[in-house]
Amino acid sequence: MALANENYLKTPEIYCFDDIEKRINAYKILHPNSHIIRLGVGDVTRPLPNEAVQAMHKAIDEMGRVETFKGYSPPQGYDFLIEKILKEYRTLGVTLEKDTIFVNDGAKSDIGNIGHILGRDNIIAIADPVYPVYENATIMSGRAGVINDDQKWSNIVYLRCSADTKFVPELPKEKIDIIYLCNPNNPTGTVLNKTELKRWVDYAIEHQSIIVYDGAYQSYVKETNVPRSIYEIKGAKKVAVEIRTFSKTAGFTGLRCGYTIFPNELMVYTKMGDEVPLIKLWNRRITNYTNGVSYVVQRAAEAIYSHKGKIESQALVDYYMTNASLIRSELLLAGLEVYGGINSPYVWFRTPDNQISWKFFQQLLYEHQVIGTPGVVFGSSGEGYMRFTGFSSREDTIEAMKRLRNGMK
Ligand code: PLP
Repeated sequence: MALANENYLKTPEIYCFDDIEKRINAYKILHPNSHIIRLGVGDVTRPLPNEAVQAMHKAIDEMGRVETFKGYSPPQGYDFLIEKILKEYRTLGVTLEKDTIFVNDGAKSDIGNIGHILGRDNIIAIADPVYPVYENATIMSGRAGVINDDQKWSNIVYLRCSADTKFVPELPKEKIDIIYLCNPNNPTGTVLNKTELKRWVDYAIEHQSIIVYDGAYQSYVKETNVPRSIYEIKGAKKVAVEIRTFSKTAGFTGLRCGYTIFPNELMVYTKMGDEVPLIKLWNRRITNYTNGVSYVVQRAAEAIYSHKGKIESQALVDYYMTNASLIRSELLLAGLEVYGGINSPYVWFRTPDNQISWKFFQQLLYEHQVIGTPGVVFGSSGEGYMRFTGFSSREDTIEAMKRLRNGMK
């Protein structure tokens, strides 16, 4: 009898956003002609930079000719892309070693997969509210323990974020081994500035912990006191893995490409207390479990570092950020408590009249045909909040704000 990995049964059967889709579909059946505006989903909507498209055309032609055909990619990615990534880091004053960069098919895979190279008994900390993948990956890997009445897992330390902390996680009182930090944050759009992030790096150095730093939204950072990379902080190479993606930087959500940095200095420990460079474990993992990212996609990623590619991808980021600013301003004008939308495409706000998140979701849908993401799907501390994103079209964003303005009068 083949046994199931029952840890998988402990996570919800449908991914949290599928529940939102179900409710929208129910509405659509009753109102087939309504113009629903989606300010909820974190997917991009603008087409790829033309430079990336052209690079793929060229790469496909190369794949069709015997002289230029490419088989498997080098396991960590092609040098032409890695060199560009290294150069980008140098503009931040960060020097990385070439062998520490691992090109992948986007951030989500590595966020989940990193659990495979970390011991079972680590104490894990995640923020609440949080991007759900950190928690689900912890549950599926069998590390979460048992679920308590408050729907929290016994072996996860939740860093509760609230209006009191301006939705920024505070240092834990207890000793944590693995900390997931998302900066700029999804869902709250808030950021840790350099001083705040340094406290986390110092904490991790002191406790021999590691930080899994999710920088999916680093290209949205505008303010100079907010880091784009954790390695801008002294000592971070000793404690942090950094995960980045082209998804939101250059519209690659449907193409799939990102990269993760495992610095050579970053150590984990055996039960006997011996040091092991984490990169060695990751190398074993990727050489055994993956065959890299397609040549065509890596050429597309390389193209966004060209002069034109940079201009085009910055234009995408600016487009979404203008939407986020419009949303932020409108909500502030309505007198709501608002976070994010400054260094992030996400705007997080308290529901009017302290409604619970799902009730307000239904109100937005049924009265205004506008979709947000109920804060509670990101964790219990998100109850009473809602997330809007700047990823819709400009026209829809303006129209949605008009509907809300009229509705909230
Ligand atoms: N990390 C965060 C915080 C995200 O919000 C997302 C996607 O929305 C991802 C990672 C996944 O990115 P990718 O498309 O590269 O898998």
